[in-house]
Amino acid sequence: MKMKVLGSYGAEFPGFKTMGLLINDTVLVDAGSVTSSLSIEEQERISDILVTHSHLDHIKDILFLADNLAGRGKNHINIIATDEIISIIQGTFFNNMIWPDFTLIPTTSDPIIRFKKIKTEENIKIDHLTVKAVDVDHTVKGVGYFISDGNGAIMISGDTGPTDRIWQIANEKKDMKAIFIETSFPDNLERLAEISKHLTPHLLKEELKKLKRRDIPVYIVHMKPQYIDALKKEITEIGHPCIHFLEQGQELTF
Ligand SMILES: [Zn+2]
Ligand SMILES: [Zn+2]
Repeated sequence: MKMKVLGSYGAEFPGFKTMGLLINDTVLVDAGSVTSSLSIEEQERISDILVTHSHLDHIKDILFLADNLAGRGKNHINIIATDEIISIIQGTFFNNMIWPDFTLIPTTSDPIIRFKKIKTEENIKIDHLTVKAVDVDHTVKGVGYFISDGNGAIMISGDTGPTDRIWQIANEKKDMKAIFIETSFPDNLERLAEISKHLTPHLLKEELKKLKRRDIPVYIVHMKPQYIDALKKEITEIGHPCIHFLEQGQELTF
């Protein structure tokens, strides 16, 4: 499995894009940074988008991607998420007011966007990838994803405050290759993190205690760029042996 990091931050600034992790050139996890990162040919290769939750920094480029691809004769894109997440995206954005309803364009029989509802903790297949959504704890319905290609699995937390179930499942898996976990705010903004259901370095340290193995690489995502120096300092001070800051443009192989 390979991953290209289109965006890895929790807000947008020059040089910092919001979440978008592209797996094997075709499966995208969150769509905060697609159209500003990929050529039209690369955008056309995307077949499926796994959405962690409905917040704008994770979905905004679904809208622009649909607009870019409609009418080019390409196959449809599956937008994959749980029922609650899809209902919000479909009702709020693809409603012919905020944006055209690309589930009907260019034709109702072959639209550019298709919504595909999944249930949490059930395995689905995308090509040769096995994907499982697991509930996390955010201000809206949110999930993390486990993605496996048979040789190894990765976990992507999505936005979350302290949570348990994803760690239980990560501990059950024997082939975990990498963990992508959010840490949004520095420790002095823990109150803000609590009410917005995000992690701080202190809360991250407590979360990582739930993971039994200490040798799995942990990649930090969704840092707010305006606090990045404090975040990197405080996260480094946790002293975890395998912690990395996921960089935009980085390519990883698992
Ligand atoms: Zn976010
Ligand atoms: Zn969010």
